[in-house]
Amino acid sequence: MSREGLQRLLAERGAISVAAFMEWCLTGSEDAYYRRAEAIGRSGDFVTAPEVSQIFGELIGLWAGAVWESMGRPSPVMLVELGPGRGTLMSDALRALRVLPGFREAARLHLVERSERLRALQAEALAAASPVWHERLDDVPDGPAILIANEFFDALPLSQYIYTGGVWHERVIRLDTEGRATFAAGDPAVPPLPAGMPSPEDGAIFEARLSAQPCIEAIGRRAQSVPVAALIVDYGYGRDSFGETLQAVRGHGYTDPLAEPGESDLSGHVNFAELRRMAAASGLAAWGPLPQGEFLLALGLEARLERLISSARAEQATSLVLGARRLTDPYQMGELFKAMALTSRGLQPPPFTGGFPPGGGQESG
Ligand code: SAH
Repeated sequence: MSREGLQRLLAERGAISVAAFMEWCLTGSEDAYYRRAEAIGRSGDFVTAPEVSQIFGELIGLWAGAVWESMGRPSPVMLVELGPGRGTLMSDALRALRVLPGFREAARLHLVERSERLRALQAEALAAASPVWHERLDDVPDGPAILIANEFFDALPLSQYIYTGGVWHERVIRLDTEGRATFAAGDPAVPPLPAGMPSPEDGAIFEARLSAQPCIEAIGRRAQSVPVAALIVDYGYGRDSFGETLQAVRGHGYTDPLAEPGESDLSGHVNFAELRRMAAASGLAAWGPLPQGEFLLALGLEARLERLISSARAEQATSLVLGARRLTDPYQMGELFKAMALTSRGLQPPPFTGGFPPGGGQESG
């Protein structure tokens, strides 16, 4: 997989959609990015919240514990993580959950992960919890479930549409006259535009994450007969809008998505309004999104931070404070990153108040 590999693919297949391109780069072949690269962490291409501070995973663990209690402490309960990366979040979460009597005995840990390399790291980090791995959510056994997905949805392929000459087209990648990969307007196509969007200007781009639909539907199916709650944390926006967010990151910096296919992390912002619509169509209540900073502070970040500092050495204390600030500061990860919960009807996940559809989360029974 390389620039030449992409040129060969395009010479063979002609134009490919942006979604097909993302899929090919990230998970579509043996040497795709997520199957091969040491993506996450200081030595990788990008750093995620659990790698910034242990408090992130700990607070999410406490969230899962509170949700489990509000479900009536079901046993067994499937504790599912989508795209667990290095296993850091879950390892911090399980440590925090040790204080909750009965949870450990009830929880069955299931990890949805395509990367063999990351599975090996997860096996090391989470050996004590005997995880079971799956290629997709549908393979996780039925039953009450609590799901966690941090920076998972941004890695799922995005479809793009471009408005030119008064018509919407699928946005594609093809070879230009000099044989270089380039973005272009493909065949006319009807984008799944939500109601209330303004009329597009020439050149407007609309993104849809059709690839998230099977995952949200799978959560909805599970939630029909048993209590289910999913926490989705990612960077993105809360209201539908035009604009392109596809990005490539390598070595902690942005790069051209077409320059080094398979060598950089491709992702796109999550449209939480779109996930909300998918959730409602799948019979789920959606809560939030809340800005990540607000979400973590409401879950007790300051108290947790103080407790850790009180038993830390000076330089540890400094790094704990800096990490916590990075997660919550609106100019760092506090605002762009957002947290949203999807639940079966009748659950009220902390610290959310307003459910979607309106009233959808507040029903009892
Ligand atoms: N949640 C982790 C990792 C985020 S990176 C953290 O916060 O650090 C995205 C993760 O999703 C990686 O583990 C990647 O291998 C996994 N992933 C990406 N696409 C996937 C797919 N289609 N199916 C399953 N896992 C996927």
